[in-house]
Amino acid sequence: MRNDTIQTQTNREMGSLYAEPANGFHAKNTKGQVITCKAAVLWGPKEAFTIEDVEVHPPQKMEVRIKVICTSICHTDLGAWNALNEAHRAFPRILGHEAAGIVESVGEGVVDLSEGDHVVPVFNGECGECVYCISSKTNLCERYRVDPTRCVMTGDSKTRFFTKKGGQPIYHFLNTSTFTEYTVLDSACVVKINPNAPIEKMSLLSCGVTTGVGAAWNTANVKNGSSVAVFGLGAVGLAANLSLRSSMSVLWL
Ligand SMILES: [Zn+2]
Ligand SMILES: [Zn+2]
Repeated sequence: MRNDTIQTQTNREMGSLYAEPANGFHAKNTKGQVITCKAAVLWGPKEAFTIEDVEVHPPQKMEVRIKVICTSICHTDLGAWNALNEAHRAFPRILGHEAAGIVESVGEGVVDLSEGDHVVPVFNGECGECVYCISSKTNLCERYRVDPTRCVMTGDSKTRFFTKKGGQPIYHFLNTSTFTEYTVLDSACVVKINPNAPIEKMSLLSCGVTTGVGAAWNTANVKNGSSVAVFGLGAVGLAANLSLRSSMSVLWL
């Protein structure tokens, strides 16, 4: 309902959130209402992002809406921007999957997250119940596993984003869509973090750090005493290096 829209806080006000306690976050009662905010929208392959006024609808059953405080760009976003794979094309779309934010409101049935919680989104969600989630060998959930072709919410196959002008649906990306001031995620794709942690750095936990550490510990399964080579020293390479260097010889390339 257009009359129910609420203009989001200014960027200056967003910045002040760093200094406020989590429970001081919810100055405006936006729960259950459409929020109008800014988002970087991609309208087609390799096109320039445009900053648009978008409407973010309230979280539905087992979903959460978060205020994105920090977000970063990753090569996976670049791949979606290029959209070389036709299966990955869904426009307009809000990319972004590495971020940190604060829970603005939660949908029906969400009991492990609440307003004001500091969180990071995870593109590889966990339902906690399926055969993969309860396995000790994988965490590729059958319901929320990473899937670049999925572009709507899992619960009702609809989007929560619309252009303010014209009400055109905007597609989601990688269970996350973080290039926006507010986003809606399945609660299975959100992890609560310590509110005392520097939230601008926690963004890296969302992809770069976990990818690098996981590559060393799980994919390569490196053992103590191994000599290893790390190709590239971006966020992923640095995280892999940090996870290894205490007990191994590392060659940086
Ligand atoms: Zn990434
Ligand atoms: Zn699962």
